[in-house]
Amino acid sequence: MRPAWPDREEQLARLRADDGAFDLLVIGGGATGTGVALDAATRGLRVALVERGDFSGGTSSRSTKLIHGGVRYLEKAVKHFDRSQFNLVRDALHERAVLLRIAPHLSNPLPIVTPLYNWLEVPYYLTGLKLYDWLAGRSNLQPSRFVDAKEALQRFPMLKHQGLRGGVLYYDGQFDDARMNLAIGLTAAREGAVIANHVAVESLMQQGGRVSGAEVVDRLTGERFEVPARAVVNATGPFTDAVRRMEDADARPMVTASSGIHIVLDQRFSPPATGLLIPQTEDGRVLFLLPWLGHTLVGTTDDEAAIEEEPRVHEEEIAYVLRHVDRYFDVPVTRSDVKAAWSGLRPLVSDPEAADTAGLSRDHIVNVGPAGLITVAGGKWTTYRRMAVDAVNEAVRVGSLSPSQPSRTATLTLIGGEGFSAQGAGALQERFSLDADVASYLNRAYGSFAPEVARLAHDGHGDRLVDGHPYLEAEVVYAARHEYARSTSDVLWRRLRLGVLDETAVAAALEHVSEVLAGELGWDGERRASDLSGARALIGAAAVP
Ligand SMILES: Cc1cc2nc3c(=O)[nH]c(=O)nc-3n(C[C@H](O)[C@H](O)[C@H](O)COP(=O)(O)OP(=O)(O)OC[C@H]3O[C@@H](n4cnc5c(N)ncnc54)[C@H](O)[C@@H]3O)c2cc1C
Repeated sequence: MRPAWPDREEQLARLRADDGAFDLLVIGGGATGTGVALDAATRGLRVALVERGDFSGGTSSRSTKLIHGGVRYLEKAVKHFDRSQFNLVRDALHERAVLLRIAPHLSNPLPIVTPLYNWLEVPYYLTGLKLYDWLAGRSNLQPSRFVDAKEALQRFPMLKHQGLRGGVLYYDGQFDDARMNLAIGLTAAREGAVIANHVAVESLMQQGGRVSGAEVVDRLTGERFEVPARAVVNATGPFTDAVRRMEDADARPMVTASSGIHIVLDQRFSPPATGLLIPQTEDGRVLFLLPWLGHTLVGTTDDEAAIEEEPRVHEEEIAYVLRHVDRYFDVPVTRSDVKAAWSGLRPLVSDPEAADTAGLSRDHIVNVGPAGLITVAGGKWTTYRRMAVDAVNEAVRVGSLSPSQPSRTATLTLIGGEGFSAQGAGALQERFSLDADVASYLNRAYGSFAPEVARLAHDGHGDRLVDGHPYLEAEVVYAARHEYARSTSDVLWRRLRLGVLDETAVAAALEHVSEVLAGELGWDGERRASDLSGARALIGAAAVP
């Protein structure tokens, strides 16, 4: 299957073209923004999206990678008899099933064990997770159940044996967040949306007191131009209020950021097909330890945080996570086992009265400003599609738009998902003489487009970027030609996930990637030097004392 969407230059030309206003301009290319663009495009609306950095360069590539209703939110719903929280969990569980269906290559169900060391905890967690199953209804993946200590250890051998009573096993979805975001954006592009990364909104245009588009800058060339639109959606996550202030300098803040960090350990710290949920940390949070792309992700969320473009991880946060892993594991774990660490900012819809961000609602809101700017914020990755439906409904109303058909996102398979088969790796390996690990990885990451990447590998771009990882030079070429990658960090952090998995390996791959990109994109020496220094700045700098 050949890519059938415009490249970045074509997209920019369409964005600049002065042939009448777009129906909708979306600001922000995280999950929420690309979701809005896709929803609008499937309704037959003329839609443009601009992202000031890279697609999912913000929170949407820094999540725990779970497609979930949120067992923790369910616990809160029960404790506070909160009906709206129940509805949130139920809706998210429905969305979980949708996402697993429309992107089978980038997502999978994952069994997760909650280890229990006290018999009294068993009925509490088992009842809670049965309720989780019940709320999922027909969208449930597999029933939760009690597993005895023997089975818990079979599934998760590194768990501390002493005193283990057993555990509760439940199922959620898992995914590759940055590639999923890209798949949503590319699907929107295929459906006719104009999407452009590295284009920032600097101010909003207004006509007769109504928002009528935006002034933007292409950050790669410095070129400034206007993008007129009948409705503008602000989907900028943690930066929501900064864009709202472009409409109304006195807008009251609506979003609070809560930070979450993850560390990456190697594969030996988790079995390949089971995750672990530590239900109660020393300060009442939950901690997930999950197998992901041949590594182990460990992370937690909910620390109030300042809003910044590249949030950093603090050494004390890494120590906190390691302390908990150590507490639950018989295998020793130390700072030197940490291969990478990153931080993300969760945009929570803020209640000015709330003292701690963990108490805020995960629900999303759609707000219309005094000059008609539509803001969609809050929610979570899992619910991006529902947020998009609500935002586009509001845009249709505010902009008096005339969609030609209803949204098709509930059933529209995302780019790469059509005809995907998990068994496809074997055929790919044979057809293009690939190593087994490479074939299996390409099949999952690119789905039905994996043969396109494999063909590039076969035609002279078959070198691995770094030993011990399946990533190929062919992917750099493909990312530049068909996935809008315009820098080494776009490639290594979001098209390939090496940057979030292994800092030593990413440092070793930088030069090679930058050289291939320079050839593909016609960079001069100066451009290449600034690309490399931008990527180098991301390595190791994640952790600060
Ligand atoms: C640590 C952590 C773990 C999480 N884990 C999960 C999970 O497992 N499952 C789940 O469902 N959810 C999870 N979430 C929540 C989820 O990741 C977020 O809700 C979601 O990614 C938010 O997407 P967004 O598009 O609203 O924001 P973002 O992804 O931050 O996107 C906003 C974009 O707007 C762009 N932007 C800002 N200003 C401008 C401008 N002026 N012009 C152009 N573009 C602009 C930014 O560059 C950014 O890319 C987690 C969150 C965190 C922090």
